[in-house]
Amino acid sequence: MSDYMFKLESHLSTDQFRVLGQVQAVAAAAGVSLFLTGGAMRDMLGGFPIVDIDFTVEGNALKLVPAIVKKAGAKVLWEDDNRKLAALAFPSGVHATIGMARQEKYAQPGAKPAVKPASIHEDLRGRDFTINAIALSLNPASRGLLLDPNNGVGDLERKELRAVGNYTLYDDPIRLLRLMRLKVRLTYNIDERTKMQYDNAREAQLETKIPREDLLEELRHIANEPNCADIVNLLEQEKLLHLYSPTLEGAKLNTPGLQKLQKARQVVPFGVDIHLEPVGLFLYFLTEKLPAKDSAAFIKRLGLSKKEVEQWQKLESRSKKLEKDLKSAKLQKPSLVYSVLSKSPGDQILFLLAHSSERLVHDRIKNYLQKYLPAAQEITEADVVAAGAKPGTPKFQKVREELILTKLDARPKKVPPPVVVAGAPGGPAPAPALARK
Ligand code: ATP
Ligand code: MG
Repeated sequence: MSDYMFKLESHLSTDQFRVLGQVQAVAAAAGVSLFLTGGAMRDMLGGFPIVDIDFTVEGNALKLVPAIVKKAGAKVLWEDDNRKLAALAFPSGVHATIGMARQEKYAQPGAKPAVKPASIHEDLRGRDFTINAIALSLNPASRGLLLDPNNGVGDLERKELRAVGNYTLYDDPIRLLRLMRLKVRLTYNIDERTKMQYDNAREAQLETKIPREDLLEELRHIANEPNCADIVNLLEQEKLLHLYSPTLEGAKLNTPGLQKLQKARQVVPFGVDIHLEPVGLFLYFLTEKLPAKDSAAFIKRLGLSKKEVEQWQKLESRSKKLEKDLKSAKLQKPSLVYSVLSKSPGDQILFLLAHSSERLVHDRIKNYLQKYLPAAQEITEADVVAAGAKPGTPKFQKVREELILTKLDARPKKVPPPVVVAGAPGGPAPAPALARK
């Protein structure tokens, strides 16, 4: 096995590795060349956790989608017919994109590109930054071969963000914002020439050419980032935030709220899936101080979906019931806290962690995220089968749930019972009984 395949295997989670095998099998059966690309390669080689898996195929990727859906039970989240790109969610919670290797030609900055099929090498030369333009072959004859025509590996070692070409930021100016987001996320420096390109593009006000849909997609990316507050701050400093709303600055930008959200997101351990749909949650904090008429203009300007607006505007009222349930004196056992929270939407859980003034609510959510959920994940399929349930049956879920609840309550030393009090706003901190070990 090549070094890179070995590295990949040890870097991906078991579920991600299973998805990799399934997609490889579908591509091999269809006789098309498959590569691992994008953030997945950057994160593997740079030593970051891999969030989602980006596949690229030489050929129409959308043709493989039905076979992947059938083989792995994946759900299609969206498809972009112009770029022949699809996003998939697998039953295990793994997310992936699969796209056609392509060349994009921009008639003018921000114009919709003319897309044509290309080789993987041409595709890599058209990407944004060198560290995002590395591919690994997943084809039987060359599996494990690394393709790195722009020396992205060197830039990963130098921890530098370098544009692939001299017109990268001009062709598709949303890359100006992507550059800022990656800078914060990876804590990398921007290489000197790329900084000059950025400054010149800003001088020419290229940001005003960014299509509305690209701004919206980027906002969704920002909402997904654990460091969303730092990214928003940098965009404000760079005078790019007003692209979203001209009044979103100074006191109308809810910086303290975003910081609380960022802190709450950092409580979720990596690899623990709370099925978070983060856009509404992020928008709540981003716009909390914005006058209603400015919020309405913001929604209209960006073309946010009805679902996203509802998730944002109903978040506070919808979370009230969960807050009340979490304060209940009846939730004495970890299994009871787990039962309440495992049925609750991820955005409500993080909203309360960031917004609630109830200490008990905080502590119970923290215990859930940092102790109970990781412990629940230790129950394997084999454990459930050994307890007499067949995978894929309704009984399987039930037995799994029972095993989890028993395991949680069998850890009295690690998970002491909640202390009374510790509730009222500004009230005393809880006794150390609830503190993490
Ligand atoms: P994440 O970990 O957040 O998914 P990512 O780098 O994989 O980060 P994606 O939006 O998933 O970001 O995009 C996948 C890859 O597609 C990128 O790494 C990059 O190579 C390429 N890409 C995405 N958007 C652009 C763009 N506007 N211009 C050029 N290349 C892009
Ligand atoms: Mg990605």
